[in-house]
Amino acid sequence: MVHPRLPVDMGRSPHRAGRRLRARRIARYSRLVLSPAVDNLVAQLTRLPGIGTRTAQRLAFHILAAPADEANAIGHAIADVKARVRPCRECGNLTEEELCGVCIDPRRDRTVICVVEQPVDVLSLERTHEYRGLYHVLGGALSPLDGVEPGDLRIERLLDRVGADGVEEVVLATNPTMTGEATAAYLADRLRARVAADG
Ligand code: ZN
Repeated sequence: MVHPRLPVDMGRSPHRAGRRLRARRIARYSRLVLSPAVDNLVAQLTRLPGIGTRTAQRLAFHILAAPADEANAIGHAIADVKARVRPCRECGNLTEEELCGVCIDPRRDRTVICVVEQPVDVLSLERTHEYRGLYHVLGGALSPLDGVEPGDLRIERLLDRVGADGVEEVVLATNPTMTGEATAAYLADRLRARVAADG
């Protein structure tokens, strides 16, 4: 008699092992039932942050059930942002033009530059309606372990902007993470050296 192979921790934790068996059965089942196109959609959706296989399957079925124009609109929106959106020449924020909405706004205070890591950080700060200066988006944080060096971020451009007439204050608003803090410390050093050289 051939015994089916069971997970090794079956005896110790029947509940967890049971769940795992069920998950395995569902995975095998979905491979048999879904078409390669649906499988591919699920695989692509699971590449998004925070989307696991089950959520991806739910989204895929929602897209399948939606009217064609509604489903196609999602695809077009993705293609559109990839084709149109680019970094602002001045600050690195997202824009469809040369310069972003903040940089061309005459009401912004041009004596202050707030340094952030990503365009999404500009959004969070704008939501507070408290900051009225300009931004500078670095495009990430320094992380030598991940291979992110000063040359990979928009640091030289920041120093150029700070050196230009009128900028009196730089607010370092990188994320409160290890890499964010290290980036802020690095920038503070570079900016201090620049002020010392200018003075
Ligand atoms: Zn800009």
